[in-house]
Amino acid sequence: MDDKIKLIYDSVIARNPAEKEFHQAVKEVLESLGPVIAKHPEFAQHKIIERICEPERQIIFRVAWTNDNHEVMINRGFRVQFNSALGPYKGGIRFHPTVYLGIIKFLGFEQIFKNALTGMPIGGAKGGSDFHPKGRSDCEILRFCQSYMTELYRHIGEHTDVPAGDIGVGGREIGYMYGQYKRLTNKWEAGVLTGKGVAWGGSLVRKEATGYGAAFFVDEMLKAKGQSFDGKVCTVSGSGNVAIYTIEKIHQLGGKCIACSDSNGVILHEKGLDLDLIKQLKEVERRRIKDYVKYHKDAIYKEKGNIWEIPCDVAMPSATENELNGKDAAMLVKNGCIAVGEGANMPTTPKGVDVFLNSGIAFGPGKAANAGGVSTSALEMQQNASRDSWSFEHTEERLHQIMKNIHNLCFETAEEYGEPGNYVLGANIAGFVKVAKAMLAMGLV
Ligand code: NDP
Repeated sequence: MDDKIKLIYDSVIARNPAEKEFHQAVKEVLESLGPVIAKHPEFAQHKIIERICEPERQIIFRVAWTNDNHEVMINRGFRVQFNSALGPYKGGIRFHPTVYLGIIKFLGFEQIFKNALTGMPIGGAKGGSDFHPKGRSDCEILRFCQSYMTELYRHIGEHTDVPAGDIGVGGREIGYMYGQYKRLTNKWEAGVLTGKGVAWGGSLVRKEATGYGAAFFVDEMLKAKGQSFDGKVCTVSGSGNVAIYTIEKIHQLGGKCIACSDSNGVILHEKGLDLDLIKQLKEVERRRIKDYVKYHKDAIYKEKGNIWEIPCDVAMPSATENELNGKDAAMLVKNGCIAVGEGANMPTTPKGVDVFLNSGIAFGPGKAANAGGVSTSALEMQQNASRDSWSFEHTEERLHQIMKNIHNLCFETAEEYGEPGNYVLGANIAGFVKVAKAMLAMGLV
């Protein structure tokens, strides 16, 4: 890391103690910025990096609700509005017991650059709660979502901050939160949340968008190497929203996904995953992935297994942060993996990223590869603003084009800065420069 940038990084650590995921995300971006500061001394002069590392606003609040036994439950809610230089704050809401300020800040920070890469007019934010949705009844989820929105509603709006889903927050939760927002404000303001149901302001393809987009991005990386998904054996971690639609698009592009997972274990099905069954188990019945083997006797379930041990051509980490470490990366490379696309946010540890970059395989970082979700959220906002709804084909084509553009921008930026093929550097620099120029133009914001 450049010496002057290292001083900024040290001060970020000192000002934000014990937020290790946030430190990791900041470090990963700052390590790429040395050549940018050399080329644009005005960014250093106006302390753009220091400003970008400080959220514009952070909201932390109590979320009180009652469980089905009539007991009072208390959780903590967060919304970090990180940067609005390019548009209203935009980023998902995560419900998971591991959520604390450091997780929300890492995700919000990443979101600034991801959103810039999309070319859409959206700033960066993230929110969530340490609420654990697993095992909760539908009524408990409803009461929690209503209580969460009862505080959040005063901080968001279609021109201010537009949340969406993330881990633990899907169509059901967005519906409950939108209903409460509508009740509290007495407004039909569709553009305030994205990921809504298609019948009431949602966009076709939003549900599929992150996974489809990640597969499109990897397809572009493969094409840049003269390859394609055709006949490629793939592994996709997780079995949630991103994983399911990554698998779907890979199958459509001619690849074969043989493994997926959840936080308990790994499914290996050499003949190719049965996606209809996974959707039924996970989306409809909300069951565990181990139940897959009850329906396919030739599939294997390994409790606490490591999906990255399975040889594959393409690996798509699509579950959670830091799920793929240096050893896993080395194993993937040794087993002949030629491309990795991050469907999740920061799923590869810094050591893992180093292994991939040094090996010369195609590595698509999350802030570029998984930007299809937020891009389609921005398309949903466009449809809401014009009270229109587009066809599946048209929306998917827009998504596809956006992912090609993001790929080309990262690819060309990496070449411009002398590191061809380094999508990490390309994504960080291209995203940063866009936001930095806007901040500079707006004066002291
Ligand atoms: P979901 O809640 O739908 O799914 C998450 C999946 O990951 C579940 O199958 C979960 O299993 C699994 N999982 C969690 N922790 C682990 C672990 N340690 N090992 C293996 N599997 C694990 O979330 P999403 O699919 O929406 O999000 C996945 C990732 O993608 C996150 O990093 C998110 O930030 C990122 N992302 C999501 C976007 C979206 O549009 N949804 C947009 C961009 C990024 P279990 O049920 O056991 O917890």
